[in-house]
Amino acid sequence: MPLSDVLHQDRAHNRLQRAFCAGRIPHAYLFTGPDGVGKEMLANRLAAVLLCTNPQERQPPADVQGALETWRDACGRCVDCELLRAGNHPDFHRIHRTLNKSHPDAQIRSRKAIDLSIDVIRHFLIARIGLRPSQGQSKVFIITEAERLSAGAQNAMLKTLEEPPAHSYLVLLATSADALLETTKSRCQHVSFNTLPAEFIRRHLDDQAGLSQDAATFLAELSQGSLGQAMQFAAYGLHDSVSALLDLLSQAAANPLACGKGLQEAAQELAGALKTQSDDDTGDTNMTRLAQNMILATASTILRDVQRLTVGHRPAALPSNAVISRLAEKTHPEAMRKTIQAVGTAEYQIRRSGNVNLIFDTLGIAIGRGLKPGARTSQPVI
Ligand SMILES: [Zn+2]
Repeated sequence: MPLSDVLHQDRAHNRLQRAFCAGRIPHAYLFTGPDGVGKEMLANRLAAVLLCTNPQERQPPADVQGALETWRDACGRCVDCELLRAGNHPDFHRIHRTLNKSHPDAQIRSRKAIDLSIDVIRHFLIARIGLRPSQGQSKVFIITEAERLSAGAQNAMLKTLEEPPAHSYLVLLATSADALLETTKSRCQHVSFNTLPAEFIRRHLDDQAGLSQDAATFLAELSQGSLGQAMQFAAYGLHDSVSALLDLLSQAAANPLACGKGLQEAAQELAGALKTQSDDDTGDTNMTRLAQNMILATASTILRDVQRLTVGHRPAALPSNAVISRLAEKTHPEAMRKTIQAVGTAEYQIRRSGNVNLIFDTLGIAIGRGLKPGARTSQPVI
């Protein structure tokens, strides 16, 4: 599990290596960036360096940009490295919201783990972080989905963040720092992560997930730089819904309401698949909402390709699809801009728990208008 396994995150690597080199490793890091770009992977490898009995100094890898002189990494062979790799290191703690299911209090166990609660933080972090390391020289706590930390949980952590016990390290992982309290953010070293290049994701899907080149290209574009998201989309077979969505979009001009209804039904079908595959207990409503937003993101990716073609660029997600060409012939970049915007509005309204039937009907009408032959409008492009 070398650090250099985490690709395309040179800025984060540089921050960590400079801290190692200066001998001043912050006790609390906050890693932010989209899901599935390597935050947790890098946090796990950082934990390995901190726990390893015999860390090594090497030449920096050639593909990491930055003026680094040395590169520290775990040895990969000591007992700490072996225990960590086996998932059994006693000083490595992964804190996540569903840990409430392992809490000694039955009442806390019975709750739905929507937030990362104060009870989880008190029992699994605060009560343990002050204890001496039981195996190695450090204790490492990784907090996943830190954006879900309740305000109470964050306040309970303040003292720990302010005066961290010796040898203890925390890494908070969050998609964005916005949801965290200022007092939490200011006590952590913030490292932001990049989205990943589409070509890197496409190759990974090709090699690891055994997808066809067309499916891998589509999902790489759909995932917008998140390998984790792309893998999830692949597992849910989202690329299989593309041809049905192309049919719906082709009919939208003639029958906009059927297009809206069809998108809603596609989301319903996907929600059924998500519910059987997921062990998340945030409820059916959330799964349905997630599926609706996945279908809308898929539609949006197709429409962006249509728009690219209207300005003479090769489609990125479906590079050689005849339906995209036919749709692009009838429409105009400005009409597509408005259509893509309408999909974004629908996603926003779904997140805000709007009336779903109304959202999809309105969206169908907007798509139908955008894909109507001669859809050029008289309004200026903003
Ligand atoms: Zn080691």
